Amino acid sequence: MDGPGIIIIGAGFAGLCMAIKLKEAGFHDFVILEKAADQGGTWRDNTYPGCACDVPSPLYSFSFEPNPDWSRLFSPQPEIWDYMRRCVARYGLAPHLRFGKEVTALDFDDAARRWQVTTADGDRLETNAVISARGALHIPSFPDIPGKEKFAGPAFHSAEWDHSCDLTGRRVAVIGTGASAVQFVPRIAEQAAELRVFQRTPQWIHPKPDLALPPRLRRTLRAFPPAGRALRTAIYWALEARALGFTVHPRLMRRQEELARRHLARQVPDPELRARLTPEYTIGCKRILLADDYYPALTRGNVELVTDRITEITGHAVVDATGRRHEVDAIVYGTGFRVVDAFRNQHVVGRAGRDLRDAWRGGAEAYLGVTTAGFPNLFFLLGPNTGLGHTSVLLMIEAQAHYVLGCLRLLARTGARALDVRPGVQRAYNRRLQTRLTRRVWSAGGCDSWYLDEHGRNRSLWPGFTFEYRTRTRRARPADYELIF
Ligand code: NAP
Repeated sequence: MDGPGIIIIGAGFAGLCMAIKLKEAGFHDFVILEKAADQGGTWRDNTYPGCACDVPSPLYSFSFEPNPDWSRLFSPQPEIWDYMRRCVARYGLAPHLRFGKEVTALDFDDAARRWQVTTADGDRLETNAVISARGALHIPSFPDIPGKEKFAGPAFHSAEWDHSCDLTGRRVAVIGTGASAVQFVPRIAEQAAELRVFQRTPQWIHPKPDLALPPRLRRTLRAFPPAGRALRTAIYWALEARALGFTVHPRLMRRQEELARRHLARQVPDPELRARLTPEYTIGCKRILLADDYYPALTRGNVELVTDRITEITGHAVVDATGRRHEVDAIVYGTGFRVVDAFRNQHVVGRAGRDLRDAWRGGAEAYLGVTTAGFPNLFFLLGPNTGLGHTSVLLMIEAQAHYVLGCLRLLARTGARALDVRPGVQRAYNRRLQTRLTRRVWSAGGCDSWYLDEHGRNRSLWPGFTFEYRTRTRRARPADYELIF
C-alpha cells in the first residue's frame, strides 16, 4: 500500500495548476487521480451547444501560460479544453495522471501521519499529503418534479449533453434559465420546431462584449508578449472594479442594474414578456449573466417562456401549475449542480477519527478556504468561500497553489510530518468572513442561489477583491499551524 508523496484529486484547472507548480518547485513525487477518462474538469464535461466561458480568455487562463491564439475574447469550450491539454503536454504532466480513479475515501492514519486514499476500483494508496482539486460544479442537480422518471423521450442534463439526440424539428422543454441555459437556449431555438423555456426565477443579464480576435492582433500578441500581459492587466482591473458592489455595498450595484435593464428593454420590446424577465432581487445576488442572443431567442415565434411553476412531468408532457400540458419530445435540464453535496458528501476521516461531515455539519469552512482543523496535510483548492462572482476563478486557484506550496515548504523546513491549522485561527477567520458576508448582496439581495447553504449562509464565495485574497495567501504563517512530528 505504498504510494506517492502527494496525491492531487481532480485534473481540472485547479489540479493541473497545482501539478505545474509542484513540478516547478521540485516536488516530482505526486500523482493526479482523475475520476474520468480525460483531463479538463468542467471544460471536459460541459459540451452543450454554445458552451463558452463568460470571463474573457486572456484572464481565464494561467498567468504563467498566456495563450496568444484565443480566437475570441470569450473563447468557446473546445478551445479552453484544448488549452488545458496543451498545458498537460508542455509541463510534462501526463506521467502523473491516473484516469478512471474516483477517490471514494480519505482516511488519516494517526500513527503513520499519512493519508490512505481509496478509489472506486478498490485501490488503496498511502500518501503524505492530499490536495483536493475536485471543484464544486460537477454533480448534476435534477429537480424533484413528480413523474420525472416517466418521461418517455430523451431527457438529459446540460453537463451530460446527449450529442446522439438530434433536436432538429423536435418539441423541446428546457428547465432552468441559469448560466448554462442562456448559452444553449439560443442554439436549440434555431433547431427545435418548438421550444418551451421553463423559468423559475428571472436572471439579470448584461450585454456580452464578445468579439473575434483578428489574426493581426493574435500575431502581435505572439510576437510581443508584453502586449498580452497589458491586455490581461486591463481586463483584470476592469473586472475587479465590478467587485465594488459585491465587496463594499449592494447600493453600488445600481449602475449594473441600470445596464441590465437597458439591455432587456433594447432586446425585448414586448412589455409583458419583459416584465416576466425582470428580476425582483438586487443584481449580483445570483451570478450576473452575459448574453446577447438569449433574449432575442425568447422572442422567436417557435419559443415560449413559461413562468408558471412545473407541477408534473408525464410520459410526453411537462404540466404547469395552471394545468396546461406542454407536449414535448425531449427535455433538457439546465438546473445546475449539487454544490453542497460536492463539498460535504465525501468520506474524509481525519485525526482521531474525526469525520469531515461532522466537522462541516454546521456548514463547510476552512482557513483561507484551504485547510481545515483536524485534517492535517489535506488541502482544498477552490474550497469553501473561495469561489468568485465577478472575475476569473483561476486567480484564486493560482493563489491557492502558491499557498499550498508554502505549507509544503514549511514541512520541509521544519522536518514536521504534517501540519494542522489551529482551530482558533480557523474559527476567527470564518467569523470575520461570515460577518462580512451577511451585509453583502448574496445574503442581503433578496434571492436564493447555490451560493447559500441550507442555513442561508454563503459558503461558496470570497467576499472581497482577488488581490486581497492573494495578499493573504502569499505566505503560510507557521503560527497558524500545529506542526506534527
Ligand atoms: P445555475 O446557474 O445554478 O442555474 C440553474 C437553473 O435551474 C436556475 O434557473 C434555477 O432556477 C433552475 N432550477 C434549479 N432547480 C429547479 C427546479 N427544481 N425547478 C425549476 N427550475 C430549477 O446552473 P448552471 O446554469 O448550470 O450554472 C452553474 C454555475 O456554473 C454558474 O453559476 C457558474 O458559476 C458556472 N457556469 C459558468 C459558465 C461560464 O461561462 N463561466 C457557464 C455556465 C455555468 P432558480 O434561479 O429559481 O434557482
